[in-house]
Amino acid sequence: MTERYPHLKVEDPEIYDLIQKQAEFESTTLKMIASESFASLRVMEACGSIFTNKYAEGYPGARYYEGNEFADGIENLARDRAKELFGAEHANVQPYSGSPANQAVYRALLKPGDKIMGMPVSEGGHLTHGWKVSFSGQDYVQVPYGPDPETGHIDMNKVREIALAERPKMIWAGTSAYPHLLDYSAFADIAREIDAYLVADIAHINALIIAGVHPDPVPYCDIVSSTAHKMLRGPRAGFLLSKIDDRYQQKYHATSKFNLAQRVDRAVFPGLQGGPHLHIIAGMAAAFKFALSDEFKDYGQQIVKNAKALAAALMARGYDLAGGGTDTHLLILDFRKKDFTGKDASKALAKCGIIGNFNMVPGDHRSPFVTSGVRLGTPSLTSMGMKEADMEKVAAWIDRVCQNIDKIDDVAPAIRQEIADFCKSFKIPGISE
Ligand SMILES: *Cc1c(COP(=O)(O)O)cnc(C)c1O
Repeated sequence: MTERYPHLKVEDPEIYDLIQKQAEFESTTLKMIASESFASLRVMEACGSIFTNKYAEGYPGARYYEGNEFADGIENLARDRAKELFGAEHANVQPYSGSPANQAVYRALLKPGDKIMGMPVSEGGHLTHGWKVSFSGQDYVQVPYGPDPETGHIDMNKVREIALAERPKMIWAGTSAYPHLLDYSAFADIAREIDAYLVADIAHINALIIAGVHPDPVPYCDIVSSTAHKMLRGPRAGFLLSKIDDRYQQKYHATSKFNLAQRVDRAVFPGLQGGPHLHIIAGMAAAFKFALSDEFKDYGQQIVKNAKALAAALMARGYDLAGGGTDTHLLILDFRKKDFTGKDASKALAKCGIIGNFNMVPGDHRSPFVTSGVRLGTPSLTSMGMKEADMEKVAAWIDRVCQNIDKIDDVAPAIRQEIADFCKSFKIPGISE
């Protein structure tokens, strides 16, 4: 490996040391947090560029600072590539991350106190979909829906019943811990029936949509919100795709002279943010270019093949999975019948080099602080080049950890070493590429 951080190494060894340790850790463990993957060196080069210095409040062609000819070039590249990638009419690439992007959605569409429909975090939704500790649950009223506790699937008839009874002004279709596909067309029918906005939050599944292995929300939704990191492998940032014209302009915004795209832009800047992070936007543009390639589509498809192979291998060993398996990039091991908790299992797995997180399962009887589930995802392993046959090995390690959970310290060093050796046979983007 060539020296990546020569200046830090000499001038700030404390930071350098921690970066090296993290790189070593990530090169010797199975990174199975469902929301993570590996950004490429070209993404990191763009993010580490001199655009970190530039102020560019406003949008391309309409800045409040001078000297933005090349900044406009960067932002236009990112916007155009985002539109091409998703077939969207309008793109805003300025949100600092996924949560600020969602904040902008609220500001563009609603008034504080409005009712929105979203999944609680405990059911697999995101904080920003109306969860009570977040601004979204404090400034707006969440009408909850979620997967059926028996089947683990979202029942669209139930969603419709709740929507008709509660008549929210906006519906979130998006999840952080749901292993199945979302039916945006059915969500759109429901939203139209009650004159509600439909917003898809594809932070977790953007690459699956690009690869054509998850339904496409863009034709059905007023706004689509996403992160650029997670499986998209860009920098930590958010972006918003939208229609240009507002379906409910006359009903909800009759006095506004701005269309939907303009309201989204105004909500991001100056509504919520100041200067855009141009270095990060450069990294997004680099990630979008890669995402437009056939190689990326193969990656997106392989993520799901790997998750399905892992799910099958675990079920063959007698493990229960929430919702009976997966159609996406993640699966949730269901330990409701075991006497150990999700937290026990995720700690034991981490000791052995399998890094995931504990997670509620549908119908969980345990508290959110311990849970009965562990969420595992395949994007990072897929970025390393793993295939279905490798998932068989991963399942065998997971099984050994769970079988030995009450004497984990005895078995951990050996498993940790086997996994470290296994990881050496793969090239890790951004680390050993
Ligand atoms: C990760 C995620 C976000 C927020 O992303 P941050 O960048 O962490 O703020 C939003 N929505 C969903 C569904 C997510 O999974």
